Amino acid sequence: MVTETNRAKTLIDIAAIAALKGRMRGELLTPGASSYDDARRLVNGRFNRQPAMIARCRNAQDVAHAVIFAREHGLEIAVRSGGHSVLGYSVVDGGMMIDLSQMRQIAVNAERRIARVQPGATNGEVVQTTAAYGLATTTGTCATVGMGGSTLGGGIGWLMGRFGATVDNVLAFEIVTADGEIRTASADEHPDLFWALRGGGGNFGVVTAITYQLHQIGPVLGGMALFPLAAAPLALRQYYHLTSAAPDELIAHAIMTTVPDFGPALVVQAVYSGEDLAEGDRVLAPLRRFGPPAADLIAPRSYVEAYMMLTPPTLPGLAYHDTAYTLRQPSDAAIDAMIDSALERPSPMSLINIHQFHGAATRVAPEATAFALREPHYSVVNIGAWPEGAGEAETTWTWMARARMAPYASKGLYVNFLGDEGEGGVREAYRANYDRLAVIKARYDEDNIFRRNQNIKPAATR
Ligand SMILES: Cc1cc2nc3c(=O)[nH]c(=O)nc-3n(C[C@H](O)[C@H](O)[C@H](O)COP(=O)(O)OP(=O)(O)OC[C@H]3O[C@@H](n4cnc5c(N)ncnc54)[C@H](O)[C@@H]3O)c2cc1C
Repeated sequence: MVTETNRAKTLIDIAAIAALKGRMRGELLTPGASSYDDARRLVNGRFNRQPAMIARCRNAQDVAHAVIFAREHGLEIAVRSGGHSVLGYSVVDGGMMIDLSQMRQIAVNAERRIARVQPGATNGEVVQTTAAYGLATTTGTCATVGMGGSTLGGGIGWLMGRFGATVDNVLAFEIVTADGEIRTASADEHPDLFWALRGGGGNFGVVTAITYQLHQIGPVLGGMALFPLAAAPLALRQYYHLTSAAPDELIAHAIMTTVPDFGPALVVQAVYSGEDLAEGDRVLAPLRRFGPPAADLIAPRSYVEAYMMLTPPTLPGLAYHDTAYTLRQPSDAAIDAMIDSALERPSPMSLINIHQFHGAATRVAPEATAFALREPHYSVVNIGAWPEGAGEAETTWTWMARARMAPYASKGLYVNFLGDEGEGGVREAYRANYDRLAVIKARYDEDNIFRRNQNIKPAATR
């Protein structure tokens, strides 16, 4: 029934929406707008949510208008940069989706070796743009992931062994906080916020630009070695042998999946980013001689070529469900259990992805930034993937693959891989940093309006 009060509210809302539209440089999309359906889709086809409105922002001022509007009208906020959230946090039913996908400028100052990047730029765009100057910073390994989400959670990738995690290379953030103010967070301005943003996720506001330290990068030794999955019991042990003694310059990941035209496989992806590629050859020789691999595509290449070769394909509309866990030093039993899960994958596109975490990123003190998980480890992600339907078999498989590893897993997981594990999972990810994060959260977002994330509850202030 349309009551007078409801009619008045609708009229006010329509007027308010029109006013917001008028203030924004970008678009404000409501259901029915021609690009509304495109804009609400995330990369993971599993999420089909309908926001009340989508603010396709062009600049920080647009973001501030959207935050203030959402706050005044009690709309739940979702923030989207690259749209790769594994839990679909970046789209919300009935709320305000703040879409930063059009904010993707990358400005490189080659002389100062810095880049100012808007959060909708992807990891691949940053790698490609900085490579034109012979420079790079640490990004995630997937070209289509957004710099916004990947940086705020920590950022792990091929260069972390040499240059640290992505957050270790951030010099400043521009951020719109819950009060609608546009602030800078750096070592000199709001240092508490700067500390929290380096790993604390989307808890503290909407980041609208990030300044990164860049480093010189020459050719790397990079590519992949393919082994039949049947060879995994020995080849995966060889991978652990290689990575547990690896120099900082080498990062190697292992993936168990089905490779088109090859079959079930263990794929070892490696990037040796040191200046002496002959040393890289020596380091990688045991892996490349082992077996030998059915295909060895490791070769000297430009960093950007290696990066693009190793990026996972993202097929539009494909649905995924992930579970993940941390392994410190995998025992023989743990390796065998992981391979058993790989053999039981219910669909060829499903996979187990083992990310190596080591080197410079592990020598930053856990309390130096919000990103606490600093010891050398492997983050293992079980990804169930399916093209249509509910994906029940794939989802169940991801849970079983994780449950099987429970006896071997260690506490705490990289927040960007964390599933919906409630406050306990978030506390374990941040460890001793959690309480300090909760205090900073209360300072900048007391009402927890930024809660579609691995949420840090504001500390009680009185
Ligand atoms: C295929 C795949 C490969 C991956 N590989 C890696 C990897 O190699 N290394 C790695 O570190 N991670 C990796 N990840 C994890 C990835 O970093 C996270 O999923 C990350 O959150 C995605 O960022 P996004 O901007 O694309 O996602 P979005 O869905 O846009 O954002 C995810 C969440 O981050 C927060 N957020 C995003 N942007 C902002 C912003 N500007 N201001 C405030 N909050 C914001 C919000 O809470 C948002 O809901 C991978 C994920 C996938 C799906």
